[in-house]
Amino acid sequence: MTPSVLRLLAPCKFNLYLDVLSRRPDGFHEVITVMEPLDLADVLVLEPAGAGITVTADRDDVPDGPGNLAYRGLELLRRRLGVAAGIRVSIGKRIPAAAGLGGGSSDAAAALAGACRLWGLPPPPGLLEEICAELGSDPAFFLHPATSLCRGRGEAVAPLPPAPPLQAVLVNPGAPLPTAWAYGEIDRLPPRRPPGVEPLLAALEGGDLEALARSIYNVFEEVARRHRPDVVEVIDFLRGRLELGAVLAGSGATVVGLARSREEAEAVGREARRALGPSVFVAVASNRVPPPVSG
Ligand code: ATP
Repeated sequence: MTPSVLRLLAPCKFNLYLDVLSRRPDGFHEVITVMEPLDLADVLVLEPAGAGITVTADRDDVPDGPGNLAYRGLELLRRRLGVAAGIRVSIGKRIPAAAGLGGGSSDAAAALAGACRLWGLPPPPGLLEEICAELGSDPAFFLHPATSLCRGRGEAVAPLPPAPPLQAVLVNPGAPLPTAWAYGEIDRLPPRRPPGVEPLLAALEGGDLEALARSIYNVFEEVARRHRPDVVEVIDFLRGRLELGAVLAGSGATVVGLARSREEAEAVGREARRALGPSVFVAVASNRVPPPVSG
């Protein structure tokens, strides 16, 4: 029996490690990153529809229709599967957009997996991965959101031992930090000595939260330190209060502070709201991401 309506959770991510290695001949940058899911999630409702694809989102800064990454994914999926059936997707956004948290990519991956269930068509092996790679760097990670090492543009995903349980406080100063601009700025940074991903991989292998906290790194912090004092203020604020530290998500501008308990994360979140002002987005999330809910 195929379900008549599907309700799915599309979680967000942050990067425990992110370095940009080189610019490739195709213009994309080669990256090495360790991605970690968080249970701050968009809510997708999928329903069968007579014909065509309808995608709507409940926020003004997220496009409806063909501009939405979920729409583009579904279009590719219908073409590859040769499906004529239509689908309607409503996205309840909880993840801030253009914030380094991968919200659009997660919506797209959830929509692809959900559509296959709704249509009763298990996808041939590798098809969803292929479509995700066509959509961008991050969607493939969200097909199986768990601690992963991602290479290439980010689309070559390999599972890692799961990170120890942790709580996160997410703070976004408000103004977006455009991804394309941030990558351009990487090429202008002076020579640098990144710490390398090996200490983080060893920390994951040993399930050692303290060692993990000592190994987090994001090269885009160096871009933020040159151009975005508002982001640096958030980084320094969280590092001053959380023993486990804080790291930028993706190319920013969300900063993720690591906490040992929900109480610690919530207390620092409340303080951030008071100290940094009303335009700042604050949320608390856990890296224990439940499986997508249906009903
Ligand atoms: P990226 O690094 O790809 O910019 P991000 O995690 O910083 O990713 P997203 O939330 O994925 O940011 O949104 C990036 C842009 O994609 C937004 O500015 C928005 O206009 C567009 N977009 C398309 N579909 C979606 C979606 N479903 N949710 C959010 N944004 C979307």
